Amino acid sequence: MITLENLRNNVNAYESFFLHQGEGGINAFKKQVELVSQKLHKVMTEADGPFIGKRPEDIKNEIQPMMEVTKETQSLKEVLDSMEGPILKNSLHISHEKSMAHLHCPPLLSGIIAEMIIGALNQSMDSWDQSTAATYVEEEIVKKVVEKAKLPDTADGVFTSGGTQSNYMGLLLARDYFCQTYWNQSVQQHGLPEGFDRLRIICSEEAHFTVKKSAAHLGLGEQAVVTINTDAHHRMEVEDVKQTLAQMETDNLLPFAIVATCGTTDFGSIDFLPELAEVSEEHNIWFHVDAAFGGGLLFSHSHNEKVNGLQLADSITIDFHKLLYQPISCGLFLVKDQNSFHYLSHHADYLNPVRDEEEGIVNLVNKSVQTTRRFDALKFFLTIKTLGTNLLGSMIDDTLELARETANYLRGLESFFVQNVDPEMNTVVFRFEPKTPIPMDGNDLNRSIQQQLLYQGIAVVAKTSFNGDTYLKFTLLNPTTTFSDVKEVIHDIEEMGNQLVSGGVKC
Ligand SMILES: *Cc1c(COP(=O)(O)O)cnc(C)c1O
Repeated sequence: MITLENLRNNVNAYESFFLHQGEGGINAFKKQVELVSQKLHKVMTEADGPFIGKRPEDIKNEIQPMMEVTKETQSLKEVLDSMEGPILKNSLHISHEKSMAHLHCPPLLSGIIAEMIIGALNQSMDSWDQSTAATYVEEEIVKKVVEKAKLPDTADGVFTSGGTQSNYMGLLLARDYFCQTYWNQSVQQHGLPEGFDRLRIICSEEAHFTVKKSAAHLGLGEQAVVTINTDAHHRMEVEDVKQTLAQMETDNLLPFAIVATCGTTDFGSIDFLPELAEVSEEHNIWFHVDAAFGGGLLFSHSHNEKVNGLQLADSITIDFHKLLYQPISCGLFLVKDQNSFHYLSHHADYLNPVRDEEEGIVNLVNKSVQTTRRFDALKFFLTIKTLGTNLLGSMIDDTLELARETANYLRGLESFFVQNVDPEMNTVVFRFEPKTPIPMDGNDLNRSIQQQLLYQGIAVVAKTSFNGDTYLKFTLLNPTTTFSDVKEVIHDIEEMGNQLVSGGVKC
């Protein structure tokens, strides 16, 4: 039996539990990495689809009995073996070429390997004395993206858990900037000023739901978010924004932020960034761009002009765990003027005393809403170093080309209707619509197709709704997915649709 005592006394113990400096720890680490590689290899080569094809309650029932905690130590091998069926095989195989549902990317090996290094080093990005080298890696990666986005020299940024946190931060800074300049009140010190219920955020009706969620968390309520209609290409109508601003002035409301979306979740559409930047400038309103999805186009060769205008934003959200193939989580928040971060900073004697700053010590907690924070920047660092920007850009371009090809192909098929025939990014939104009358509701049919393909483990596609109708959606992020893979999935959809129509499978 392994006890704490014999672990301490024997640094060469093969079964070590910590990565200490002795040989025991690192040997155990090597052995365990090898075991995990073998197990993942087995699971992934044996999987014959993107999902094993089970219903939620069946998986829940398989997980529960194996969660029993033991008093005795167990070898990693034993635990991995017991996990194989319930957890590993029952997981979604996101790197499988028929996995094409959400903005949920196959992770690059560079990102996965970096995760291992991140865990092993376990640096914490809040203070320099906990991330002595990592602090500078993050700062340099931020600088690279700032340059790529053509932001001014005053720009700065910080890694986040993802778009939700980045959007929240953008709106937090926008709110506090406004309260400071309009009411001369520090929200950080004194809370929201009287009359705060007149504050408004403008975004498109197709903006991400986290804009509303942020407004709620910022004490403004979802009522503070005013949504603008979109045009035929799902872009916010700039004229409507102008009219809304005029109406708000009449109504004595206080618009303090315009949120543009650069790559909407469903259609990948990109709002008119330069035009919206101009409107924001004219009205002295904070311009936040939610480029969680579209920000990845900064690294594309053929499509990077689509994100022109990003450089005019006051703050930007970019997710590396979407179009840029990093394991979750890996997000970035950028600001045009690094001074804006002062709305967040709070000095704690034990962590980031003022004296540190006077001595030039960088404590990144000053730029974040988090304290203890992961070294996620390493994932993107290892990725651009190993892949190089040429290959990374080509991967992105290929996936956009695949989406275009797919939409074009679907348009030519009798039984399909495509909502975005000319996709802006990686998504294709469409419906199965057989020409002959069907004995059921078309929305129910498409919903059932999506569900049955998943439950049977045939293909993983998404569903969404548009104008009250249910659609199927492909999000084609995987650069190894080919057009023939996509055609196979389309064939699967048609076959499932026909079976459901003929009553072969229950809806
Ligand atoms: C995914 C997404 C978000 C939310 O980001 P998370 O990384 O999931 O927190 C916000 N906005 C858009 C446009 C997104 O696609």
